[in-house]
Amino acid sequence: MDPEVEALLAPLRALVKEQGDVVRELKTQKAPEMDVKKAVAELKRRFFYDQSFAIYGGVSGQYDFGPMGCALKGNLLNLWRSFFVMEEQMLEVDCTMLTPEPVLKASGHVDKFADLMVKDLKNGECFRLDHLIKAQLEKSEKKATAEVKARCDDIIVKLDNMGAPEMSAIMKEFSMKSPVTNNDLSEPMEFNLMFQTHIGPTGLMKGFLRPETAQGIFVNFKRLLEFNQGKLPFAAAQIGNAFRNEISPRSGLLRVREFTMAEIEHFCDPQDKSHPKFDDIRGTEICLYSAANQMEGKSVYKTTIGEAVDSSTVANHTIGYFMARIQQFLLKIGIDPKRLRFRQHMGNEMAHYACDCWDAEILTSYGWVECVGCADRSAFDLNQHYKATGVKLCAEKPLPEPVMENVVELITNKSALGKTFKKEAKLLTTHLANLDTAAVESIESSLNSTGQHSVEIDGQTFTLTKDMIVEVKRFQKKVFVEEIIPSVIEPSFGVGRIMYSLLEHSFRVRPDDEQRTYFSLPAWMAPIKCSVLPLSNNPDFIPLVKLLSKALTEAEVSHKVDDSSGSIGKRYARTDEVAVPFGICVDFDSLKTPHTVTVRERDSTLQVRMPVDDVPEVLRRMSQGKLLWDDVMKKYPKFEQQQSSQK
Ligand code: AMP
Repeated sequence: MDPEVEALLAPLRALVKEQGDVVRELKTQKAPEMDVKKAVAELKRRFFYDQSFAIYGGVSGQYDFGPMGCALKGNLLNLWRSFFVMEEQMLEVDCTMLTPEPVLKASGHVDKFADLMVKDLKNGECFRLDHLIKAQLEKSEKKATAEVKARCDDIIVKLDNMGAPEMSAIMKEFSMKSPVTNNDLSEPMEFNLMFQTHIGPTGLMKGFLRPETAQGIFVNFKRLLEFNQGKLPFAAAQIGNAFRNEISPRSGLLRVREFTMAEIEHFCDPQDKSHPKFDDIRGTEICLYSAANQMEGKSVYKTTIGEAVDSSTVANHTIGYFMARIQQFLLKIGIDPKRLRFRQHMGNEMAHYACDCWDAEILTSYGWVECVGCADRSAFDLNQHYKATGVKLCAEKPLPEPVMENVVELITNKSALGKTFKKEAKLLTTHLANLDTAAVESIESSLNSTGQHSVEIDGQTFTLTKDMIVEVKRFQKKVFVEEIIPSVIEPSFGVGRIMYSLLEHSFRVRPDDEQRTYFSLPAWMAPIKCSVLPLSNNPDFIPLVKLLSKALTEAEVSHKVDDSSGSIGKRYARTDEVAVPFGICVDFDSLKTPHTVTVRERDSTLQVRMPVDDVPEVLRRMSQGKLLWDDVMKKYPKFEQQQSSQK
């Protein structure tokens, strides 16, 4: 085919494929298919979000948020800040996204942040291997014997725990081909997910767009500890974008190449991972899918977080505390508790840095989706950055009693080192100044026996000679503290995934009219809190509408005046589609004294009649969740007349 025609068709094919994937997933999940499709169409029509650069054909895995999406995201992040940053007095930072290579080399991302992929041997199309295997097994299961079906199910559960050799064997066992062309596929290969770039004009300094926000916090650890007056535990937090060059992004907002994360790094004593507020959440009920249950083919079970930590299913109090808080947060924003579980990572699945990890997974029409990761990263990152830079990233822990310590120190001849190693001398000097007793004594003994000693730093070899060392100094010092490299517990939230899941969970169709849909978002999450609707375009309504709008703005209640023509019912239906929880209608009775208006609640469509003067404060408190609609219904008379005109 003409390459130009092919280039034009490629994005369309990708779209068709993406749609196909969506439908397949919906079928396997037996989701209310039409509802979900309707919901997604509604989200795009109302510009909650849509594909970026769409007029150029769009790019897979990139989305823009429109006005409704932005306001929803803003509400989610505000709540996140008050729920986590304010509640735990976390230290918030905002670090740059463009990251020099050595930082991500030290963190392990340059070598290990990769997914397995296979290529179509004829046209080069790439597929993420675990997704390809899962989709093909789900397809084969349909016409398989009970025995093969059981084998497929077992593989799917354990897939996340498998490496290249096991996945390659499964591809052969099931004779897997490209799902698009049926061509043969390559052997699995690793694909690093980071976007590489160069910093500055020379092209000499390699960099990457950060794949997570966490590293910005680790490299600032010393300053943050100092800000916290040297005390542990403390937590830092960051909200910002991260970039991952996903192999075959699909599933809308769930797998994208640029996304907002909200991350917490809680630094604590590795010997003491208790949490001062654990008892507050000990009784919280939680659904767990432990690694053992996944490996043994058992299912999810309900327990309390206290019980899960006591039985060592969850590694420590601090992870347990954050799991409970993550759950409270997700329920507060409106996630359906029946569609939330915590799944533990299996041994091989764990990221290169983690020693225990639980994902908060939310059930959507695409299946269970990891929305928040909660990992114990131990002291991995701080240790790695210390090794790479020679800067000690540790905290001081007071000893119960001061102790006398023997110190052995190398006193170097700086000018001799400078002469031989030039600009590398600083790296070597920092390294030598931080050696422990055993290492200093090993250098001393080889210098005495052979006259030289080799030191390895980050793959570079330095040969020390006797003239570079002035003396090996020995003395005693009284120490009051011990140096520890803190452990890190990290809850990491994917903002887009949470938003999408929330929108799916809150999508509703009115039982009496399936054309009428709405999002039942809690008032504190709704992008716009209320609508102000004059009953008709009669100019007599204008002054009161203006007055109400001004008063609502002063009360910080976001609202929208809709004075377009169309029945009041049609206009309410339109605001329901963008989740507006309350509607105020100005009618002819409003013009009489005492001035009153009707206030309508979205989910029930019930209305009350309320004095205009009460409106701003009542709406402000309802929007913040500080006043419930049920209480408003008890206080004000019910209003029924306009119900008939709503249809
Ligand atoms: P991870 O560092 O892989 O545990 O990711 C942390 C969180 O980021 C996950 O729980 C997801 O919510 C989110 N996330 C990871 N990758 C993506 C992606 N490609 N698109 C959207 N969100 C993502």
